[in-house]
Amino acid sequence: MQFNPTATLRAHGMPVTAQRIAVLRAVHLAPHATADEVAAAAHDTIGSISRQSVYNTLGAFVERGIVRRIQPIGSVARYEDRVGDNHHHVVCRTCGAIADVQCAVGHRPCLSASETHGFVIDEADVSYWGLCPSCSRRTSKRSKPSTSSKASKKSPNKKGR
Ligand SMILES: [Zn+2]
Ligand SMILES: [Zn+2]
Repeated sequence: MQFNPTATLRAHGMPVTAQRIAVLRAVHLAPHATADEVAAAAHDTIGSISRQSVYNTLGAFVERGIVRRIQPIGSVARYEDRVGDNHHHVVCRTCGAIADVQCAVGHRPCLSASETHGFVIDEADVSYWGLCPSCSRRTSKRSKPSTSSKASKKSPNKKGR
């Protein structure tokens, strides 16, 4: 898929502006970036853009389905322009690194609930947790997991899904 911010904005009925292009490009170049990271990148590109208008633009993109907002437990919101494929994420418990994991089914909900309680279920929120390669390398070298107070500030232990 070719990255064409102008076409994307037009397809979603949004006026094409330098700011919107800069924000969309920043999201595209750094998948799973935080709003602050997107703001910094957009600012580097076009100079004059306030943090607030980056936030507003991201919100408008999410509303229209141009950008997907994810928020792993214990993390701030992150943004990506890979939308519509119901892909999942693997998150490092130690450093918070995030990577995409292709959904085996490819559409929502990709897990059928054993019981629906009469709900019409349209999504299963799947997250994978573990250690990223560099953290697991570090851990095995030290032979003991480095659960410093910082690393365990909010260990995601509430994922009974
Ligand atoms: Zn890590
Ligand atoms: Zn992703």
